[in-house]
Amino acid sequence: MKSPFTKKQLAHYRLRLEALIEELDALDSMTRDSRKPVELDQTTQGRLSRMDALQVQAMQEATADRRRSEKRRALAALERIDAGQYGFCVSCGEDIPAKRLDHDPATPTCVDCA
Ligand SMILES: [Zn+2]
Repeated sequence: MKSPFTKKQLAHYRLRLEALIEELDALDSMTRDSRKPVELDQTTQGRLSRMDALQVQAMQEATADRRRSEKRRALAALERIDAGQYGFCVSCGEDIPAKRLDHDPATPTCVDCA
């Protein structure tokens, strides 16, 4: 099976994926400090503010999780470019329309399989 895209198109998607990974890494290192475990010491913080802190932390953790899985998707897409499988749905093998990949270059599936 040959990729439905030209070398030039693939290079374009590769650049976008690499930029996306860089951006995710940058965001991750920027927010790492604020995701440290919440101190158990309740003398300086009231019970409510500690709950707030835990809630904020949980939200940040969820965001970090999303970033990690987005990065995995992007890395997998880069591997598909290297393997000459980029642009094919990983589920059914059909072509993924360029329009869909332009919107999200890391998408592994066609609309039907998403
Ligand atoms: Zn499919």
